[in-house]
Amino acid sequence: MSKLRANESCEALGSCENPAYRDGHVMKYVVVTGGTLSGLGKGTTISSIGVVLKTMGLRVTSIKIDPYLNVDAGTMSPYEHGEVYVLEDGGEVDLDLGNYERFLNITLTKDHNITSGKIYEKVIRRERKGEYLGKTVQVVPHVTNAIQNWIKSVAFRSVDKCSGAPDICLIEVGGTVGDIESAVYLEALQQFFCKAGEDNFCLCHVSYVPIVCGEPKTKPTQHSVKELRQAGLRPDFLFCRSELPINESARAKIALFSQVPHSHVISVHNVSNVYRVPMLIEEQSFGELVCRVRKLGLVAPSPSPESPPASLQDPTFSMSRWESLADKADSASNPVRIGIVGKYTGFGDSYLSVVKALHHAAVEADLKLDIVWIESTDLEQQNTKTTPAMYREAVAKLESVDGVLCPGGFGDRGICGLEAAAEYCRTHSVPFFGICLGMQIAIIEFCRNVLGLEDANSEEFDPHSQHKVVVFMPEVNADIMGGTMRLGNRATIIRDKKSVAYKLYDQQPVIYERHRHRYEVNLDFVPAIEAHGLKFTGQDERGQRMEIAELQGHPFYFAVQYHPEFTSRPIKPNPCFLGFILAAKSRLSARFEEHSGRLRAGSTYLEKPLNDENSHVEATK
Ligand code: GLN
Repeated sequence: MSKLRANESCEALGSCENPAYRDGHVMKYVVVTGGTLSGLGKGTTISSIGVVLKTMGLRVTSIKIDPYLNVDAGTMSPYEHGEVYVLEDGGEVDLDLGNYERFLNITLTKDHNITSGKIYEKVIRRERKGEYLGKTVQVVPHVTNAIQNWIKSVAFRSVDKCSGAPDICLIEVGGTVGDIESAVYLEALQQFFCKAGEDNFCLCHVSYVPIVCGEPKTKPTQHSVKELRQAGLRPDFLFCRSELPINESARAKIALFSQVPHSHVISVHNVSNVYRVPMLIEEQSFGELVCRVRKLGLVAPSPSPESPPASLQDPTFSMSRWESLADKADSASNPVRIGIVGKYTGFGDSYLSVVKALHHAAVEADLKLDIVWIESTDLEQQNTKTTPAMYREAVAKLESVDGVLCPGGFGDRGICGLEAAAEYCRTHSVPFFGICLGMQIAIIEFCRNVLGLEDANSEEFDPHSQHKVVVFMPEVNADIMGGTMRLGNRATIIRDKKSVAYKLYDQQPVIYERHRHRYEVNLDFVPAIEAHGLKFTGQDERGQRMEIAELQGHPFYFAVQYHPEFTSRPIKPNPCFLGFILAAKSRLSARFEEHSGRLRAGSTYLEKPLNDENSHVEATK
């Protein structure tokens, strides 16, 4: 049915340039813009739209447009922009792609994050090659064409381990309508809409409805829809973010001014946890409306018992699964206090995936997560910026938690505080989980205080140390900062069958996790470190790169060079996080016993990556 429509559209255009059509497959584009203000939870709203579509048996992919001029998020400060999310293929991207991967259980590539940096780089490269054949290269049509071509080239890629193109491509336009830098994207999307045709394009607009003196105020939404219209785009649905449910009169007013049906105004008010948002949207019949709306004509594949659609075979995608997840998240009352000792604790989004992964694990373990943020510099008594009161408070926090997590980071600020946290956990049998920089810190602390190498350090913090126990990786480029680290999926071999790692990963000898680092454990010190009880239980294929470290005789002292937070999913928490959370409540050993030496009963946890080419085999040193 949808094939027929695409052919008709193609004919109407007099060419097969229709971006909704490729090799007989029709793509339905659901574009989402934002209005009024940023930080509304647009990413969560869009991911939830995707979940609703997936629960209907549709296969969904997503593209995020970031109008900034950076080529990618890799060089951006976590204070400025939140965490840098790392994809399987090594892409360093906006954290919203993390929302999509987590909610939709999909695996995206760096091309799924469009930035102005990437678009202009491409256009200018073509101009230098003379490919525009003497034409004046202009924003319209050359940049707008480049944007449309990029979307079309990415939209049809499978992102869910099933063959064939997805049914729906969600496109988020970052920023808010009216921003100077997003204007070119709105122009491109307007052209895209004309080419794809009404049947294949749906526009959702997310805006804010503030509650003033108990009354929902609709003016900001009206104005942002006006901006959208000025850009030549007309919304099909309005998603109204608000603290309270949007009442009928506000809904009617918004519908009237935005010229959408009353039922197309969806209230996205605050709910007890994010897992409820898909249900909130579904309760207002979005799924039914978006499929039945004549213009879009989305038709969900009818699930037949013999061959249910691929997405229905994924247990993530039944609304009841989301409901039970949301209920579980609400009902947990037994607290687990986790201290995150980090360098960027002042800005919540800096460690977004770490926080999400902790939540996933806590929900599975029926625990209520209580995060205690500890800025690492506050644990540095000798730091002139740390007052005695700040130090006392940080120490008291450290002593109050059930487990300590030291996440990734760059640069030497706060390193002594991180080291103090690692030492405290090691010597007081407090569960410790180190990630990337956290693992390097654990090695430095161990070498200083157990091996007696007083000046042991990372080359990153002291290039002149006599004992550089963490060194710069030979293949990494020291001059170009963007995209030059050891990035993305790599294999880790777990040989020791008695190790915690082997049990956590359900006895799989080879696991794949994502990386983002420039420094690594110095092989020269490995024998001495291991002889003193800190074992490297996971290594790369050649046994040259230390990936996992665990301390013998400690309840849980576990550190990884990779970033397990990026593969954690709501219904599939990453095993390192689940192990850490269980250890923090002294429940890990019992869990291993219950499942005969595994974290979970049954089959393997982490499958091979989506695209094998993305799981890099290391270059020979
Ligand atoms: N700065 C360290 C390195 O580059 C750790 C990086 C990280 O934590 N992501 O190796």
